[in-house]
Amino acid sequence: MIYQKLFDKHINYKELSLQKRRFKHSDIVGLIHALPFEKQIVGLSFEQREIYKIKVGQGKRKILLWSQMHGNEATATMAIFDILNFLKPQDDDFQDFRNEILNKLELHFVPMINPDGAERFIRRNAQGIDMNRDALALQCPESKILKSLVIDLEPEFSFNLHDQNIRYSAGISSEQATISFLATAYNQETEWNEVRTKSRQVISAMNEVLKNFIPYNIGRFSDEFEPRAFGDNIQKWGSSLILIESGGYKHDTEKQFIRKLNFISILSAFDVILKDGYQKYSLEEYQQIPQNEKYLFDLKIINAKIKLGNTIFNIDLGVNFEEKNILGASEFIHKSVIEDMGDLSVFWGIKTLDAQGAFLRPFSDFPEIANRLGVYKNFQVEEGEEAFFVLDHGNHQTAILNGKVVE
Ligand SMILES: [Zn+2]
Repeated sequence: MIYQKLFDKHINYKELSLQKRRFKHSDIVGLIHALPFEKQIVGLSFEQREIYKIKVGQGKRKILLWSQMHGNEATATMAIFDILNFLKPQDDDFQDFRNEILNKLELHFVPMINPDGAERFIRRNAQGIDMNRDALALQCPESKILKSLVIDLEPEFSFNLHDQNIRYSAGISSEQATISFLATAYNQETEWNEVRTKSRQVISAMNEVLKNFIPYNIGRFSDEFEPRAFGDNIQKWGSSLILIESGGYKHDTEKQFIRKLNFISILSAFDVILKDGYQKYSLEEYQQIPQNEKYLFDLKIINAKIKLGNTIFNIDLGVNFEEKNILGASEFIHKSVIEDMGDLSVFWGIKTLDAQGAFLRPFSDFPEIANRLGVYKNFQVEEGEEAFFVLDHGNHQTAILNGKVVE
């Protein structure tokens, strides 16, 4: 199977200068200039950063792809550069596939359409607006650029590439939704016309390929109509729009495995489009993809106890981590928060810690341990508080510092 081979050989095309999500516009401009393809500045961001479009192929069927409309969703930008590397003329085992792409498709890539947001590694643009709620109001220069691209190019297919919360699960399960798809709705009734049907058919084809690599980690986003979003409007404007959301995967904080899955998925979409191989997929096949659900905590602590006065009770804790940008948004630290407590038996943890009956106690009960570990704030074990506490096993204690276990 060609996809297994692509999976195995991804490293040959991987853009090695991008290894972490927090890269900036200045990191990609040089890469774009070095590409042996037609490039064009399609406009400037609010802070005057150039937004580039790279055109590849001379085929009849037009496809437009853009990434990082939300500045802190960088996974697909990395994958776009891998795909561009793959499409460069070269001597390898994929000549036939590459030539087919170049002869049958006309690809237009717009990596990092919100460079000002990427600079700060935030969702919104420099005006504080979420571009994906600006498809009608068009108050952001970046939104105007995207709309004109769609209207002027009239692509048959559009790829809207995002990252989603890593705590989404694929259905009601403990499995993270690593890649989620959506054939966005073009009306409130979420009806299926020809344009939208093609989106879900291509998604079903990508799903079939991806299942070979992540059988339990593929999700489907809710198809509620959002009148202000680009995906929904582009579908309405007549381009079959495919939304790909990169979620989480165990031990892949910088999403390098997920980037590879994007590489495979998007190339498989090109393949099925140029072969017209998507028509066979039924609505059921699309609907079988599990819905995105919220059943995960980053850390779930089970079998803990709390003593309040003379009462002892059982308790589970759900702890999540938020990324806080530091050093000019080039790095990040985790900030933990106790999201929920009580009976959490219907949820799962991306990581689970069995407290084995230990008591959850504040550091103030253990001044010596607090001193040794440098915990000077009096953290309480309560919802909304940061996860700093002690698991008291009686004969020994385990410290939890910012949600991390310290023995
Ligand atoms: Zn997004």
